[in-house]
Order: sequence, then structure tokens, then C-alpha cells
Amino acid sequence: MKVIIHGGFFSESDTNQETKRAKQEALSAIVTQANTYLQTHTALETVVYTVSLLEDDELFNAGLGSQIQSDGKVRLSASLMDGKTQKFSGVINIEDVKNPIQVSERLLGYEDRVLSGEGASAFATKNGFGYFDPITPQRRLEYQAKLNQQERKGTVGCVALDADGNIAAATSTGGKGFEIPCRVSDSATVAGNFANPFAGISCTGVGEDIVNTALAAKIVTRVTDGFSLKDACEKSFAELKFIDGFAGVIGISSQGEVYHLDSHPYMVWASFDDSLQVFP
Ligand code: ASP
Repeated sequence: MKVIIHGGFFSESDTNQETKRAKQEALSAIVTQANTYLQTHTALETVVYTVSLLEDDELFNAGLGSQIQSDGKVRLSASLMDGKTQKFSGVINIEDVKNPIQVSERLLGYEDRVLSGEGASAFATKNGFGYFDPITPQRRLEYQAKLNQQERKGTVGCVALDADGNIAAATSTGGKGFEIPCRVSDSATVAGNFANPFAGISCTGVGEDIVNTALAAKIVTRVTDGFSLKDACEKSFAELKFIDGFAGVIGISSQGEVYHLDSHPYMVWASFDDSLQVFP
């Protein structure tokens, strides 16, 4: 059993030690809870549980504390992939919900598994997800000051391998901040979140770069075709350089490899392999 999580990129404006420590502590606590949960739950259940905890922590750009789009609205995107059944589900630009990853989980049981905008919000309301305003005073200030245009805040993700050898991946984001309303993030696409019986990957970084290189799906495909997870990540990141792309990934393979890789500046992450590890 193994689990790895990320909290997106360490923002240029977060270079103070206090914020760094807060993120290390939050990720360490959450991955420890994830590891405990994984002992008695499937990989799929664990990634939903863990990404919900990350969404509820306002340090990260997902769920509560998400960034605001250029028209002043928060629109959330999240997706989930069950490596065992190879089913993908997600919500794109959903509004007024607390945990978009849980709406994605609900959608796994439907034939129509990716919903966007108003349709996604209506589905959430119909399925009992209550109204929730994810804007925090801090994000409102940033929006008003138009500061977060230059920032890369933390999208969140989790990949888990359970006792039965099944893998699942989940990713959730508030987007890049100040984007054109309804811009589609990579996080609710197979470029940003992918899993099959061989590997699972969750991405963060510039969504357009991640989509242009089909990053998560490509790394998982390479592992499926015999690459180690490390080699698959490194080859795919070398290709990302052709387009001057910017991304970070976390992953687990069915061989038990737990790996993370990022472009500069660095991604914040934590894992529970045999013991707790957190970004330095
Ligand atoms: N990948 C996300 C997006 O482009 C942002 C991020 O990971 O920071 O929407």
C-alpha cells in the first residue's frame, strides 16, 4: 500500500519560511491520514477522501481558497480515475460546491461521466451537494489587487495503490487565477489525471502545457509498455522541454514505485511509502 499527494507549485509569493512550513505540516498530516485510511479502504476511496481533505485546506488552490477567475467567480475542476475499471469522471468549471472531487465520485456511477459549468452545478444540487462559497478573504484581496495573475498556487492531487494492487488518481483545482471565464484546466482531463492497472498520475502546472503533451496519459502509457515510472516521467519531461512546458507530477506504478518530478520552481508533495516523506 502506498500513497502520494501534491499541493501544486510553491508560489513565487510564498517564499517565506512560514508558508513553506505550513504547507509541509499540512501535507504531512494529510498524507498520514490518507495512509491510515488506505489500510481499510480501496485506492479509489482513498484518493477521494484525501483530495477532499486537501480541498478543505485553504492553503491550497482547490475547493476552499480557490483562485478567482477574471469575472470574479470561482469555478472548480476535478477528476477521478479508477485504474481497475479504467473509468474517468470529472467536473469542469463547477460553481458553489465544497468538494468537487466528491461530485466527480458520484459521476463515476453514471454513463455521462464528465459534466461542465451549469450542468455540473445542477447535477451537484440535484444530488444533495449543498451550496458552498469557496472564496476566502485572502483570495478576495488577491483578486482585488490583481496579484494572483503572476502566481502559481497549489492545485492538489493524490495517487494511491491499495492492498489489492489497484491504483486510483484524483486531481482538483481552482485553475490558474484571472483566466478567461470558463477556461478549461487540464485537471479534469486525461492529460492531467490518469490511471490504469499499471500506473496512476496526477499533474499540476500550466494546464495548456500539460494538455499539449498529454502528460498523465502519456506517462501511464509508457509504464504500461514497459518503462519504469521514473524513466517514463523523465522521458515525458524531456519532451515537455520541446515546448518549454512547465509541470509537476506525482505517480505510483503497480510495481510499487512512488515517484515525483517537476520543472522549476518546485512542486510541494508528501508520500507514505514505508514511512512519511515530505518535500524538503
Ligand atoms: N494545472 C492547473 C491549471 O492549469 C493549475 C495548477 O496546477 O496550478 O488549471
